[in-house]
Amino acid sequence: MAPPSPATSINRTSSDGGTIILNKYQLTRLLGRGSFAKVYHGRSLIDDSSVAVKVIEKPSIADPTMEPRLVREVAAMRRLNHPNILKLHEVLATKTKIYLVMELASGGELFTQLSRRGRMKEATARRYFQQIVSTLNFCHQNGVAHRDLKPQNLLLDDDGNLKISDFGLSALPESQKDGLLHTACGTPAYTAPEIVRRKGYDGAKADAWSCGIILFIFLAGYLPFDDSNLANMYRKIHLREFAFPDWMPKQPRIIIQKLLDPNPKTRMSIETLMNLSWFKKSLRPDPTLELHNETEAEATEEDDLSSIKYKTTMNAFDIISMSSGLDLSGIFEEKIVRKDRRFTTTATAAEIERRVVEVGERLGYRSKKMKDKENRNRDVMGLVKGRVVVLAKVLEVAVDLLLVEMTVVGGGGGFSEVEWEEFKVGFEDVVVSWHC
Ligand code: ADP
Ligand code: MG
Repeated sequence: MAPPSPATSINRTSSDGGTIILNKYQLTRLLGRGSFAKVYHGRSLIDDSSVAVKVIEKPSIADPTMEPRLVREVAAMRRLNHPNILKLHEVLATKTKIYLVMELASGGELFTQLSRRGRMKEATARRYFQQIVSTLNFCHQNGVAHRDLKPQNLLLDDDGNLKISDFGLSALPESQKDGLLHTACGTPAYTAPEIVRRKGYDGAKADAWSCGIILFIFLAGYLPFDDSNLANMYRKIHLREFAFPDWMPKQPRIIIQKLLDPNPKTRMSIETLMNLSWFKKSLRPDPTLELHNETEAEATEEDDLSSIKYKTTMNAFDIISMSSGLDLSGIFEEKIVRKDRRFTTTATAAEIERRVVEVGERLGYRSKKMKDKENRNRDVMGLVKGRVVVLAKVLEVAVDLLLVEMTVVGGGGGFSEVEWEEFKVGFEDVVVSWHC
């Protein structure tokens, strides 16, 4: 399969045929296909490291479910820092495509291994299962449920460690209504019945169901519920109608039985599961405990620094995805990007407003409150000089962190790089970092 053809002048084809995107990554072979994207192997032209690049065609963004999925995926991947969760390095975009640059899981899908080698030995199954369950537990504690857990989303790195991918369907706590999730999603053979019924449901309990399915597949080598007739399949799921193969060990049988309880209320929880002796056998120390300790140590020593660190890891896309609407059209076009400047600050909105007026007046601008086009209830600061209009929009992106977005909207031709430099100097002492 050929890598995607260059869509804009920003992309080009290299001498050996691979597509080079935004002068940063060379895309080589296709690693896999998802429901709305293709994933390629990529090589960084900056440090030669290998990455995976998920390429999403923008026309598909016309699909109204696409934007929220993408935003969720980006936000969920960004929020979760765990050795068993695929890291998202950066998000790039051109006029026609969005590129999610991720950590490469060079071992491919666990699913491929299963179909090649057949079912796993109990110890192997347990080792993978422990990694999955502990990772999910970590996610749940951070308010994120995966909801689309299946072998295709379980990838392996070079060392055979598990990497969970595809947070495209995961729900963030903000989207929880009465603590229950409401969108129907997931993949039928793995999906908890309460999701299929479109009732409000508890994401963590839905993930516990998928754990039951996955443990079954690991040890049996096939799906517990499988029927080409969807209605039949759901009926079987509701009646817990599945049979264990003879070789299924005794303890996993009990665990699977309790996880595949169609009633989420009586279904075994991830916490309970983690306390079972079968689960705890040869369990490796929780890798996140170290992470927590590290962050805590930093936090106590240099309270501010640790929060700034978080802030500087954001890029423009994170910030856009955190703001109310995701309008990617044009934002990443080279021409327009030059007319945009964004910075994060811990100063207050009032302080920023004063600064905008002050710096603007020094440069000969008149300041004026204007209506925000995207959100009519919100005011933005406008600076006007002849035909040039510079808008300064202040968005709250995290606790005590504002994003100031400065855009030249009118008669931009009369606006020079020198003026940006003047603005930069003017904001110098309140800027945490620039995101250009
Ligand atoms: P979608 O969200 O569209 O379903 P996925 O993120 O699941 O897309 O990716 C589709 C497929 O691409 C995966 O099943 C896997 O085979 C492959 N893939 C995805 N991410 C990576 C990665 N980081 N490293 C290696 N292969 C990957
Ligand atoms: Mg997928």
